[in-house]
Amino acid sequence: MQGQEAENDMQNLKLAEILEKAKAESMLSHEDILRLLETTEDQFGCVAQVARELREKYFQNKIFLYGFLYFSTFCKNDCTFCLYRKSNHSYRRYRKDRAEIIAAARALADSGVHLLDLTMGEDPLYHNTPQGFNELLQTVREIKRETQTPVMLSPGIVSPDVLQKFKAAGVDWYACYQETHNRTLYNRLRIGQSYDERMGQKSLAKAMGYLIEEGILTGVGDTHEDIAASILTMKRMEAAQVRVMSFVPQENTPLAGWKTGSHFRELLIIAIMRLVMPDRLIPASLDVDGLRGLEQRLNSGANVVTSIIPPAAGLAGVSQSSRDIADGNRSLEKIIPILNRMHLEPATRLEYQAWLESWPAHPACSAKGAVQCG
Ligand code: SF4
Repeated sequence: MQGQEAENDMQNLKLAEILEKAKAESMLSHEDILRLLETTEDQFGCVAQVARELREKYFQNKIFLYGFLYFSTFCKNDCTFCLYRKSNHSYRRYRKDRAEIIAAARALADSGVHLLDLTMGEDPLYHNTPQGFNELLQTVREIKRETQTPVMLSPGIVSPDVLQKFKAAGVDWYACYQETHNRTLYNRLRIGQSYDERMGQKSLAKAMGYLIEEGILTGVGDTHEDIAASILTMKRMEAAQVRVMSFVPQENTPLAGWKTGSHFRELLIIAIMRLVMPDRLIPASLDVDGLRGLEQRLNSGANVVTSIIPPAAGLAGVSQSSRDIADGNRSLEKIIPILNRMHLEPATRLEYQAWLESWPAHPACSAKGAVQCG
């Protein structure tokens, strides 16, 4: 018993040391991250506290808000974790036309979001036809002209020429989630898709001047080692936005019966990402637990609310394809009171634009105050 107590004391001391390092913005090692991933729900408060302090240092109490427009749920790929995989014939797909996409973008921009996230499956209509992306390029140009709002595009893997054309059309961000940086797990999740091509596409986009978002899934067979490796990879690749989402099993997919635990691991990873990458954008997605999960994610150090979806546009989410959408719970009217209650506030559009322009040149500053755990 005494031996166990001594071991617990040692572990708490180690955790406190790591949190001190994080506050001082010293580089956290792979081993440090592995220790942080052992954090229990009882210990989480002090990890989240440091994560919030670091968020405040770089972002004060300002939160960015992203509108989400999943405009085509057709896909030529067969990812095992995804509702929209091509083999799922039981899902009724949709593809929005230009007028519908622009109308939804306008409604989101008018509601006050800072960014429009345009996402699609790898829809064969766009990917496999010569004229495929011309229509979408024109749609993006019109959205930029009409809304003057930053745009993130998630089109999947496209040719360098197409990527360059979207940049020229005014797209600011390229998002292309690896979901894991363990190649074996990747091959089980993203069936038949090249790991290196996907990573290379993000390097190419970055070289073209895009901001890039990288993302991981958790609860899908990932180990602590995998998560630690992913966090350090995302830091190294200078992804300006880094996201984690809990895996939610989807009906009629190979992982439909996968046993998942609580979403605490997602909260912990959000906090650890903030400790390792204090100046990055880290989303609190409404896509996993809807509005009721927002406060927990913000309390863990997230500084962007993503997957805000207009209620009447017939649009889907990703992991929870319909949660909280029809009843308007993914709207700013429902989100802002939660921010206010937490003494947070939406950034202005100018503040978001200033952040985009300043990345990645952020001043480092030092932290004060000791951390105690256990
Ligand atoms: S994760 Fe993306 S690429 Fe994979 S099946 Fe789903 S929509 Fe297609």
